[in-house]
Amino acid sequence: MMQKQQTNDTGGEDALVGNVNKLMVSPPGYSGAPRKGHLVFDACFESGNLGRVDYISEFEFDLFIRPDTCNPRFRVWFNFTVENVRETQRVIFNVVNFSKTKSLYRDGMSPVVKSTSRPKWQRLPAKNVYYYRCPDHRRNYVMSFAFCFDQEDDVYQFAYCYPYTYSRLQHYLASLERRNLPYLQREQLGLSVQQRRLDLLTITNSEREKKLVFLSARVHPGESPASFICQGVIDFLVSQHPVAQILRDHVIFKIVPMLNPDGVYLGNYRCSLMGFDLNRHWQDPSPWAHPTLHAVKQLIVQMNQDPRVSLEFYIDVHAHSTMLNGFMYGNVFEDEERVQRQAVFPRLLCQNAPDFSFSNTSFNRDVVKAGTGRRFLGGLLDDTSYCYTLEVSFYSYMTAGSTAPVPYTEETYTKLGRNVARTFLDYYKLNNLIKDNRPIHIQRRRRAWVSGIRQTDIRTDRHRLRMNKTQSTVAGGSFTLHCL
Ligand SMILES: [Zn+2]
Repeated sequence: MMQKQQTNDTGGEDALVGNVNKLMVSPPGYSGAPRKGHLVFDACFESGNLGRVDYISEFEFDLFIRPDTCNPRFRVWFNFTVENVRETQRVIFNVVNFSKTKSLYRDGMSPVVKSTSRPKWQRLPAKNVYYYRCPDHRRNYVMSFAFCFDQEDDVYQFAYCYPYTYSRLQHYLASLERRNLPYLQREQLGLSVQQRRLDLLTITNSEREKKLVFLSARVHPGESPASFICQGVIDFLVSQHPVAQILRDHVIFKIVPMLNPDGVYLGNYRCSLMGFDLNRHWQDPSPWAHPTLHAVKQLIVQMNQDPRVSLEFYIDVHAHSTMLNGFMYGNVFEDEERVQRQAVFPRLLCQNAPDFSFSNTSFNRDVVKAGTGRRFLGGLLDDTSYCYTLEVSFYSYMTAGSTAPVPYTEETYTKLGRNVARTFLDYYKLNNLIKDNRPIHIQRRRRAWVSGIRQTDIRTDRHRLRMNKTQSTVAGGSFTLHCL
């Protein structure tokens, strides 16, 4: 059944709790039969998010993001469909209630779109997107985009970034399982509050070696690029690539691809079903309020106490809404030698992934980050292990020598994951766990280069503060219909 839009303005955006459900938006006062061009909005599907639509004119609609469940502070992710369009119908959609002000929309980011007849996601042209402070919305930042529908029978879907749903992950993991790979094991580590699976993959050939790399993703559900990276890591590690075969022989990889399955399913940006930012609860997760985090933490603590296992890496994958490229956050330690050792993996990754930036990589000890996996485990694990947050831009990357940012695609996110995986071989060759068969002069050059990392190359928070002060802010212009 299609509902008619309520024309009276009941409740502010804080009152939004559900997604629009096949909502037909016709002109106020219109009582005739629905016509082509009376747009029908829907977000009642997995990872969907759209809380309200206001009719402004025949051409213009205000869209409200539905805040995270039980936490109205977070409003960033959107994902909805539009149908019943008229051919050549031109519209402007204004997303009016973002909870963030800084955004890559200033730098050319745009929403992604697909439609029934063109099922591959693509980014909208940046020239059709405007980001500005709007006097009509309490001077909130508004992102407006112009769009021209072209196929009457198509259903169009718009999203903040390429969606990667819980079901997609389940299908992917099921297809991996069907391959019956002797070095891959899938298990259910626990269940979410809404009884969704918390999956754990173990990839290894190794019975003897007990070096362990732990990777997790999607603690923040709206950060869908993290899933493409994670899938890239898994695809590479289970492949027949010679590097993958060597890695499986020497290292155990444990991967939790979706730490917050409820949040992903519900279309939240940051929180779990009950409104918790799980990446702020590592110190004391509760088995009933944060069951997935509790299960992962228990497993890590247990492995850390096992003398047969050496947990060497913990990497938590995220996506970043204001920075470009892939980069990492690490911890700050008193021991300078430890700080330098910590810079080795990002330096090696930088060699393998053109979109990964060592200069964006930084090491900090913010108080607000104390409950994150990276910070908590950095304190728990011994000084031969490394904990990082791997971040990737929601938008684009610059490579050495490129003059314009290159927008990320689903494929380039996945490729970054493959590059992360193969970097472990370089790391373990450097540390003599794996025999380095490269010519001796290349080995020497690599060692000299890594040991040549100086303290001044390693960015700590002090540098970042200075950087932020010098970054100029770009003021958004006012938006008019002439832009069409
Ligand atoms: Zn995050």
